Amino acid sequence: MPTIPIADLYAQYLSIKDDIDAAIAAVIAESAFIRGPYVERFEREFASALDIPHCVSCANGTDALYIALHALGVEPGMEVITSAHSWISTSESITQAGGKVVFCDTDRDTFTIDPAQIEAKITPRTVGIIPVHLYGQPADMDAVMAIARKYHLWVIEDCAQGHLAQYKGRTVGTFGNAATFSFYPGKNLGAMGDAGAIVTADAQLAERMAIYARHGGLFKGDHQIEGINSRLDGLQAAILSVKLPHLPAWTRARQQWAAAYGETLSGAEGLTLPMTAEGREHVYHLYVVRHPERAALAAYLQEAGIQTVVNYPVALPFLPAYRRYKHASHEFPNAYANQSTILSLPLFPEMTNAQQQRVVNAIKRFSLSHARAS
Ligand SMILES: *Cc1c(COP(=O)(O)O)cnc(C)c1O
Repeated sequence: MPTIPIADLYAQYLSIKDDIDAAIAAVIAESAFIRGPYVERFEREFASALDIPHCVSCANGTDALYIALHALGVEPGMEVITSAHSWISTSESITQAGGKVVFCDTDRDTFTIDPAQIEAKITPRTVGIIPVHLYGQPADMDAVMAIARKYHLWVIEDCAQGHLAQYKGRTVGTFGNAATFSFYPGKNLGAMGDAGAIVTADAQLAERMAIYARHGGLFKGDHQIEGINSRLDGLQAAILSVKLPHLPAWTRARQQWAAAYGETLSGAEGLTLPMTAEGREHVYHLYVVRHPERAALAAYLQEAGIQTVVNYPVALPFLPAYRRYKHASHEFPNAYANQSTILSLPLFPEMTNAQQQRVVNAIKRFSLSHARAS
């Protein structure tokens, strides 16, 4: 039996092959590789999909964070608060911009930053907060924004896993001063290479970000400042423009597969299913369950030809990269507890009923044998 992958990018390509092939051919025929009409078109389309005025495209989601941080004026000595549980881009970009990373623990069940613990992390040097809509579930944005207003902090939403997710009926990415997106191939909206973008309602911030990302100027020969080179290329832009109209349907498909897992797996011994907080609409970039015997479950599923992944095996404060902060597990008890139980199951829009049934049956078999053994 073929292995069931965690995601199937080739299946998605096949479902829109003709349009993708034509878009790639058109970019090549016009040699529109860098900047140009395809990039401008995607920037307009993505901003409009989120109903926000400005989109500045860039090379990847990590650069998007770095460019936003730089444009918001992060300098050495400044502190930025972010979630203890994320992909390292979220925190490494703070350091890259010159700031100091201040980790905040997550909520045990939503895996997003726990607003109740943010205020204790604020010092006179704090300048901003980066909540992460991890796995596709929005962070508690009302609470985060209230704290930001109270202490005059900016907010950058890390939307790399949260394309089109909603918080109380409003699309994530429209709450903070800026929001960053990744179009890494496996993300909910994925390019065929690296790609990223920043959105904002602030015209001046958008211009500062565009200038910085493009060698310090908005047109050839213009260099107001020294910048960097971080560009979305024409091929990726054209591919993203083909995919963007499908994103709402792909998101609904993810939600349907998640709901089906929820129905069929509820009650499985030892398994904790993902929980979505009131008022939040999850877009299931990843379907993350928890199990006290994570390693045994993962090995059992691998044996059954089912791929699983741990996103992420070590929470950020405990990585060797942050040894300098000498963090201890008791400072981030939720992130610490979750890192050893989380497991991402296969979930992607093109998944079939038969594939999902195989995953469900294998987990149920594991649960039964596990229940008998314990
Ligand atoms: C993928 C991701 C990023 C970075 O995106 P890249 O395009 O890979 O640089 C940032 N934050 C989170 C939470 C991500 O999942």
